[in-house]
Amino acid sequence: MSFKQLSPDFWVSPQLGKADVAQAASQGFRAIIGNRPDGENTRQPSAEAMVALAAQHGMAFEHVPVTPDAITDADVERMEEALCRHGGPVLGYCRTGMRSASLWALARAGQYGQDNVLRAAAAAGFDLSRLKPRLMARAEAPGGPARAPRTFDVLIVGGGSAGIAVASSLLRRRASLDIAVVEPSPTHDYQPGWTMVGAGVFAPGDTRREMAAVMPDGVTWIRQAAAGFAPDGNEVALADGTALRYRVLVVAPGIKLDWDAIPGLVPALGTNGVTSNYRHDLAPYTRDLVHGLKGGRALFTQPAMPIKCAGAPQKAMYLSCDAWRRARVLGQVEVEFHNAGAALFGVAAYVPALMAYVERYGIHLRPQSRLVAVDGPARVATFEQQGANGAIERVERGFSMLHAVPPQVAPDFIASSPLAGAGGFVAVDPATLRHVRFGNIYGLGDAGSTPNAKTAAAVRKQAPVVAVNVLATLAGAEPAVAYDGYGSCPLTVERGRIVLAEFGYGGKLLPSFPAWLLDGTTPTRAAWFLKARLLPAIYWHGMLKGREWMAAPRTGQPAAPAPAA
Ligand code: FAD
Repeated sequence: MSFKQLSPDFWVSPQLGKADVAQAASQGFRAIIGNRPDGENTRQPSAEAMVALAAQHGMAFEHVPVTPDAITDADVERMEEALCRHGGPVLGYCRTGMRSASLWALARAGQYGQDNVLRAAAAAGFDLSRLKPRLMARAEAPGGPARAPRTFDVLIVGGGSAGIAVASSLLRRRASLDIAVVEPSPTHDYQPGWTMVGAGVFAPGDTRREMAAVMPDGVTWIRQAAAGFAPDGNEVALADGTALRYRVLVVAPGIKLDWDAIPGLVPALGTNGVTSNYRHDLAPYTRDLVHGLKGGRALFTQPAMPIKCAGAPQKAMYLSCDAWRRARVLGQVEVEFHNAGAALFGVAAYVPALMAYVERYGIHLRPQSRLVAVDGPARVATFEQQGANGAIERVERGFSMLHAVPPQVAPDFIASSPLAGAGGFVAVDPATLRHVRFGNIYGLGDAGSTPNAKTAAAVRKQAPVVAVNVLATLAGAEPAVAYDGYGSCPLTVERGRIVLAEFGYGGKLLPSFPAWLLDGTTPTRAAWFLKARLLPAIYWHGMLKGREWMAAPRTGQPAAPAPAA
């Protein structure tokens, strides 16, 4: 059956059967609202049967029965309560869908406005014009309950690695919390796996799941983008013009990949030998290009910091070189690494091991060389290179393959908001991760201003710290625990071996294992096993479920200020 959407979090349907309930569950619905009284039709399942059927598929069922043309204000309030209890996505049904659409329109007229609910219903095939006077009255009711934005204990912006991990860590500590996650994407990505997709080790599907499948039970998923912040009123504006309120806000919408900053790059991607492991759909193209290349020039680029996973641009290069070495064509491939920065890697302890691979693969390092334009059909990349005297020179390089990594900046709606710090990212204290100006706002992950390596590994340590400190804020106390700046970058120097960089603020080495078991400064098979076999499972089944493996914060210690980076 095709369900009809009326708002970001509400759909309607005619009478549901068993197969339709299963379909609703597979599409990620959290609850079903039945608007038919029992016994209207002899073949219709009772509300009791629907409760059991919905539960069998992991969904809630609410019964708000009404008879056609006899919807009372009390019915509308009960519908409103049912909608609020579950947030989205919720599926309403009656005989034709008309009563569910009418109840929704009356319940939501204050939030969306009379014209908008009429338009949404008409687009779904329901003519509600006879309800106009009532809709207008509800839309214009001053300060009525339907007009007030809903308030959550904790509102989380972003359902990526950080947003989901924080929601789960919070619920593990206090299951009764009323939490919402604002997230427009229908899918959730394990981005650390894209390097492995580019090398043909993982399949693209290994790195992507339905968002509904990772959204923790009990969380309200608001399926749209956040558009702005009004921290003085504790409000977040959403893309559809509505708003939500919070007691505590957690901001985690990631970093913006600024593909358009390089003229010619976007139309060239995915064709003419131009690829990037920074996009899920392009990582398989990297794999195919590497497999097909038997000679010529391969360019790998790295933009200025900060970027997410600072090692990923060179990881793609080492794995490609290793594939060419195994195929005995490396001697015919001229490899260049154009790095906008001066150093191969930001933490000196790992550089010798990386340099050994640079030499082994015969890579030409081009420091302080920034990709500024791409001509896909002509297969020419243009760089701005800084010479020894500081002068900038424009250099064109032809290529057979170009692995491009885009510049990365704070998301626009963060950079232009009152939450932004100097660099446009969410201005948080590096230790407590609490906003430096607003006491009930936290920020973490790639969107945060903290000077750690922007990685999922950092998020694994940050999320529990934020969860503990959010609970302290809700209780009126000061943040209780501190983050030490831990981040990790598994540098895939060859298929089967990794240099496992693990470090905190100021480049302090923070190895998770004793050196006899896994020495991160040298290439090891143990680290490859960790990356290829253990970390994906730790991500999906540990971190995203609030299981804080080797990441639980030590409580009972004051949140000491972090050292400068
Ligand atoms: P994300 O996971 O990117 O999630 C941000 C979420 O916010 C998204 O779901 C997005 O849809 C949502 N969002 C965006 N705008 C809005 C809005 N307006 N309103 C609401 N929601 C919004 N890390 C490692 O630890 N190890 C690695 O080996 C590693 N390798 C990597 C390789 C590559 C190629 C890439 C791209 C990344 C790699 N990373 C690695 C980095 C890691 O994936 C990120 O650091 C991590 O995903 C950051 O989590 P996040 O939640 O801050 O951002």
